[in-house]
Amino acid sequence: MLVLGIETTCDETAAAVVERGTDGRGRILSNVVLSQIGEHAAFGGVVPEIAARAHVEAIDAVIAEAVQQAGCTMESLSGIAAAAGPGLIGGVIVGLTTAKSIALVTGKPLIAVNHLEAHALTARLTDHTPFPYCLFLASGGHTQILAVRGVGDYVRLGTTMDDAIGEAFDKTAKLLGLGYPGGPQVEQEAKAGNPARFALPRPMQHRKEADFSLSGLKTALRLEAEAIAPLSNEDVADLCASFQQAVVDVVYDRLRAGLKLFRESCGAPAALVAAGGVAANQAIRAILQKLAGEAGIALVLPPYAYLRDGVLVFKPMWLYWRRGLIGGGMQVFSYGVALWAMTLAPIALVAASREASVLFGTLIAIAVLREPLRSARVAGALLVVAGLMLIRLQ
Ligand code: ATP
Repeated sequence: MLVLGIETTCDETAAAVVERGTDGRGRILSNVVLSQIGEHAAFGGVVPEIAARAHVEAIDAVIAEAVQQAGCTMESLSGIAAAAGPGLIGGVIVGLTTAKSIALVTGKPLIAVNHLEAHALTARLTDHTPFPYCLFLASGGHTQILAVRGVGDYVRLGTTMDDAIGEAFDKTAKLLGLGYPGGPQVEQEAKAGNPARFALPRPMQHRKEADFSLSGLKTALRLEAEAIAPLSNEDVADLCASFQQAVVDVVYDRLRAGLKLFRESCGAPAALVAAGGVAANQAIRAILQKLAGEAGIALVLPPYAYLRDGVLVFKPMWLYWRRGLIGGGMQVFSYGVALWAMTLAPIALVAASREASVLFGTLIAIAVLREPLRSARVAGALLVVAGLMLIRLQ
C-alpha cells in the first residue's frame, strides 16, 4: 500500500510517499521539503499570507519530486493524505485542496490527517515503537506531553498555558536581534555563554500536573536584557545560555511530572518519544536522555528529518527549473494540459532554426516523460508532436 502525504501547515511545503509492507510496518520512500525560511526571515517570524502564497507556488513541484523519488506514479498510489489542521489556515487550505484535487482526478481516497496526531505517531514509522509510549511534543506552535496508547487513543497529560517552547526560543532570538528561526541561533549563542549569569525563573516547577508556562520566562529575560542594554556579544551569549538552561530545567521537571501521571493512568510506558523541532536542541536531547535513563525506559528520538514537519531536502535548482519551465507539475489534468499548450505554442511559432527546434523539442520531451500522471504525459506527448509538426510546416 502506497500513500502520498502532503504537509503545508506552517512554513514548509512537504510531500512524502510512505509504503505499508505486508508485515504492517511503514517505510518512508521519499520525503521532500521546501523550506520558506528565506521568505520569512526579514520579518522575524512566519507571515501567514506569505506562507500561503509560497505553498501555492511550490506544492506541485514538491509533490512531483516526492512521487518521482519514491519511484512510483500517481496511478500506483493507494490514497492521498494531507494535514487538515491544526495550522495556519491559508497553508492548510492549499495542501488539502491540492490533495482533494489529486484524489478526485485519480479516483483515490483522501485521508485528512491531524497534524499533531502525525507528530504523535512518527515514532511508529521511524522506530516501530510499541504502544503505549510517552510523547514529548515541542514544536514552534505546540508543547504537549501525551500518553499515546494506540492509533486514535491519546491522553493529554500536559500542555502549555501560553507560549510553545519553540515559540519562546523564536521570540527570545528576535528580542536579542538574532535571526529566524530562533531555536538554532539561541542554541549556537548559548554554547559560548554562561548559563548561571542570569537568575531566570523556572515556571510551574514542582507542580503535580504536567503543564508548561513559558511567557513569564520570556518576560524575565526581556527585563534582564533591558537592564543591561546596550548588549555586548558576551551579554547575548550569556542571556541565551541562561534562557536555554531555564528551558532545560523546566523540561526536566515537567516531564518528570508527566511520566508520573503516565504511570498512574496508563501503567509503564514503553518509551519516551520526542517530536517537534525543539528536540533538535542538544541540551534538551541530553536532558531527555537523563530522564529516560532515570525512568528505566528507552528514549526514541526520530531522525532530525522527521522531528519537524519535514526535512530541508531543498534542491532549489531542480525545483525552480521544474517550476519555471514546466509550470508546476501536472497533477491536475486540465491545468497541466493548459500549461503545456501555453509552453509549446510560442516555442512552435518562434523556433526559427532546425537546431533550436530540436533543442526545445528534446527539453520538452524530457520534461513530459518525467511527469508522474500518465494522462498528463500522453497529453504532453501529443502536444510535443503537434508542436514539432507546426515547426516543420513553417
Ligand atoms: P507546529 O508543528 O507546532 O505547527 P512548527 O512547524 O513551527 O510548529 P517544527 O517545524 O516542529 O514546528 O519546529 C520548529 C520550531 O523548533 C521553531 O520554533 C524552532 O525555533 C525550534 N527549533 C528548531 N531547532 C531548534 C534548536 N536547535 N533549539 C531550540 N529550538 C529549535
